[in-house]
Amino acid sequence: MSNSTRDLPISPTAHMDHVFPTLTAEQIKRVALHGRVRRLRAGEVIADVGDAHMNFFVVTAGRLEARRPSGTGGELVAVLPLGHFTGEVTMLSGRRGLVRVQSSEPSEVIELEREQLLTLVQTDSELSDIFMRAFILRRAELIAHGLGDVVVVGSSHSPGTLRIKEFLTRNGHPHAYVDLDHDTGVQELLDRFHVSVADVPILICRGDAVLRNPTNQRIAECLGFNAAIDHSQARDLVVIGAGPSGLAAAVYGASEGLDVLVLEANSPGGQAGLSSKIENYLGFPTGISGQDLAGRAYTQAQKFGAQMSVAQMATRLACESTPYSVLIDNGASVPARAVVWAAHHRRREITVGGSAVKAIVGNKLFPRFADRYLAKTGYEAQQLPQTPVDGRADNLYEPVVAEASTHGIFDDTARGTSIQLWATTHRPLVATALTGAVAVGVRAARRRA
Ligand SMILES: Cc1cc2nc3c(=O)[nH]c(=O)nc-3n(C[C@H](O)[C@H](O)[C@H](O)COP(=O)(O)OP(=O)(O)OC[C@H]3O[C@@H](n4cnc5c(N)ncnc54)[C@H](O)[C@@H]3O)c2cc1C
Repeated sequence: MSNSTRDLPISPTAHMDHVFPTLTAEQIKRVALHGRVRRLRAGEVIADVGDAHMNFFVVTAGRLEARRPSGTGGELVAVLPLGHFTGEVTMLSGRRGLVRVQSSEPSEVIELEREQLLTLVQTDSELSDIFMRAFILRRAELIAHGLGDVVVVGSSHSPGTLRIKEFLTRNGHPHAYVDLDHDTGVQELLDRFHVSVADVPILICRGDAVLRNPTNQRIAECLGFNAAIDHSQARDLVVIGAGPSGLAAAVYGASEGLDVLVLEANSPGGQAGLSSKIENYLGFPTGISGQDLAGRAYTQAQKFGAQMSVAQMATRLACESTPYSVLIDNGASVPARAVVWAAHHRRREITVGGSAVKAIVGNKLFPRFADRYLAKTGYEAQQLPQTPVDGRADNLYEPVVAEASTHGIFDDTARGTSIQLWATTHRPLVATALTGAVAVGVRAARRRA
């Protein structure tokens, strides 16, 4: 990378060699076996923002520049001299391009189509490591600098804003965020797009479409998340749900050469995507965040050619004839030779304690009253009359030595067992016992009659 990159938005100091590696002459020769040589004029555009089909380029002479269109000439994002290559995660996903790539002088490149690149990364492990690492790190840099094709205007107090930000984040889509509560100059932005504060959250999609509180489906549509997917194509395997189970099925299916499509109602990661740190996942001794785990699995599945359709829910499975049909909520029907249903695992919740049951029932019957009552009394009810001892360990900020459980004045009233917990975790047994008791009761009543 040239020195000029120091001033660019993407100018990481720590992993520069991994984000923008220089291929050796021998590595370039191996890439050339899969593609074709192309000569470029100065200023020739070879990939553009919004392009549905992005090819992959390795520079063999001259220099390329990656720019984000803005103002005159666009904002320079990266400079790619001899031995460098283009692309980031969109190369694998087949989603639309986020930057414009053009030659800054007469240049020569090796050009590979996406399919040729996928074959290369599946067969050359050294190049696969270099490309995959660079693609992921480049996407991380784009996200960190908000260098995408989306601006979200909202407020951190608005559930709609949080939903949209979560959807973009969990889909690994870089976006800029303008917070109405903190950012000055927002009014100018709103005026430019003829929207008022009452319309938030607003999503400015690819510089022109202005969406007011859009659904996740609408966002996916506008950003073309599913544009490259042909839903009428018969698949070897359709996986429903992109939580850890669905992503694992996609990786193993695609790595064995199956044509795999994953259908996800929301965004990849499932419940695990909500976890800040998973400590018990095999192979990650120091733990990994659910988002990172899902991101890695998602990229791994794409590397083997699996496709992922997001914000599209499977509504029905028709297995009367083969290939089977998976119906989705946009009306399409996907033919599949095999289906893995990895979507039916709801978050397990067990309600323990009479007061929790009272709060849940109260909230169901009188939600407004319960909200007001808890707002008034909830804080006070959690206070203790004692003054805390200075410097005590409490297992929250500091571990209590020797024992990892929580202690307090409730120790005296706490019990080692709970009938309610036992009943909740042994529902079939409880149901059988109750049915038996009712049957015995009915029989006894009949005999008496
Ligand atoms: C906050 C939190 C922290 C956790 N921490 C841990 C931990 O540390 N260790 C641990 O072992 N486990 C943990 N878990 C549990 C773990 O995340 C789940 O066991 C795991 O995610 C289950 O994976 P799954 O793929 O089977 O299902 P899910 O993760 O539930 O994924 C199912 C997916 O299917 C999608 N879907 C549902 N219906 C449809 C449909 N009709 N069409 C298309 N898609 C659909 C959903 O949107 C979802 O993405 C945690 C869970 C949560 C919520």
